[in-house]
Amino acid sequence: MLKNLFDRPQSFKKKCIVDNKKTTVSFEEAQKIILNSIIPLSSENISIMEASNRVLYEDIVSDVMIPHVDDSAMDGYAIIAEDTHGASIKNPIKFQIIGEIQAGGSIVGKKVSKGTAIRIMTGAPIPEGADSVVRFEDTEEKAGYVKIFSETARYNNYRSAGENIKIGDKVLQKGDRLRSADVGILVSLNYNTVKVYKQPTVSIISTGDEIADIGEEIQMGRIRNVNAYTLYSEVRKYNGIPEYFGIAKDSMIDMKEVFLKALKSDVVISTGGVSTGKYDFVKEIYSDLNIDMQFERVNVKPGSPCAFGKKDNKLIFGLPGNPVPTLTSFIQFVRPALLGLMGAKRIKKPIVNAFLEEDINSAEVHHLLRGYFTIKNNEFHVSTTGNQKPSMLRSMSAANCLIIVPENVTSVKAGEKVAVQLIDHDEI
Ligand code: AMP
Ligand code: MG
Repeated sequence: MLKNLFDRPQSFKKKCIVDNKKTTVSFEEAQKIILNSIIPLSSENISIMEASNRVLYEDIVSDVMIPHVDDSAMDGYAIIAEDTHGASIKNPIKFQIIGEIQAGGSIVGKKVSKGTAIRIMTGAPIPEGADSVVRFEDTEEKAGYVKIFSETARYNNYRSAGENIKIGDKVLQKGDRLRSADVGILVSLNYNTVKVYKQPTVSIISTGDEIADIGEEIQMGRIRNVNAYTLYSEVRKYNGIPEYFGIAKDSMIDMKEVFLKALKSDVVISTGGVSTGKYDFVKEIYSDLNIDMQFERVNVKPGSPCAFGKKDNKLIFGLPGNPVPTLTSFIQFVRPALLGLMGAKRIKKPIVNAFLEEDINSAEVHHLLRGYFTIKNNEFHVSTTGNQKPSMLRSMSAANCLIIVPENVTSVKAGEKVAVQLIDHDEI
């Protein structure tokens, strides 16, 4: 099934790489160059309501105990555990009920002593004298007394002050990307606003005379502008602020005009026009605009025509034109850059080993194949999602992972293990 893995004959691919030797880098080198170019953005204070997925700019150290006081983990009766010694279904022990504490309430002037119980609700403070809570389900109440049917240990259903968070605990760290539980921690420490890294602004440019935007009539030879919208979606997913700058024609004048406007953002992403074709002007635009080109080709499939440059603190990516390499290059190169600009500590998609369910033949380059993983008997299994041509967006749409075939491996057999990058999983 993977005979059609490549869109071009082998000889053609080799020639391109040799022609561009000076500026071609390996996959790992490309990632390293990008990461070394990142200077994290400054900070801003935002409402806790907006904090989800933002990256913390400061360590969070608690100045309170959570829970604030010892409290009950169950609805039941606060008693002295020792008093239940010998209790059983046949021989229940009776306690006199001397009061009740609701959640949010308190009890003054009453103390649990031998043979007495206070009715207590979940979250209510443990009354003085008690050291355990017996839940309602294990009791029977009648006429001011409660029968307890089994022995109970000290600190049963009992939450100690500070058992969740102590004063001085570093509960979250600078560089953490805030998830819902983290927002909850901040709220429990009474944060109304939080200091986070700013979000990078990201300009998106499409290039190509043949590219038609949504709504435009598609005449012969025209291609719908897919990339601007897949990238817009990805930038939002990683919390950048995207701005779409339209389609630049394949001319120096038009491209320069669009790039000049787009360079106001922290990151510029263009697609297409970065290969070796007669009308591929993106690399010339870099030199014309004094963008410091770091590389213009990566030894990876799909997506070898891929440029990266810097100007001031701005990062400029020239992604390939075909819709799949646009996305795979975004995931491998732009995504970590956006997270890095936002100060995120965790920027790697998890990679697991999976049993391959079909034979794969690859080229002598770092290869990323669109795959779908499943888990059977606690083991990862993976198969490709069909035709792997760079223009085949359907096999990307069907994928939930990328199968990594390293540079020096040319074939992997069904049943062998391969490395698989989980592209839909959070960064670790
Ligand atoms: P290029 O590198 O500019 O020659 O583009 C390579 C291929 O990707 C061509 O078939 C283009 O038509 C296609 N392509 C370029 N830009 C886009 C885009 N924005 N959306 C969809 N396909 C594109
Ligand atoms: Mg083009």
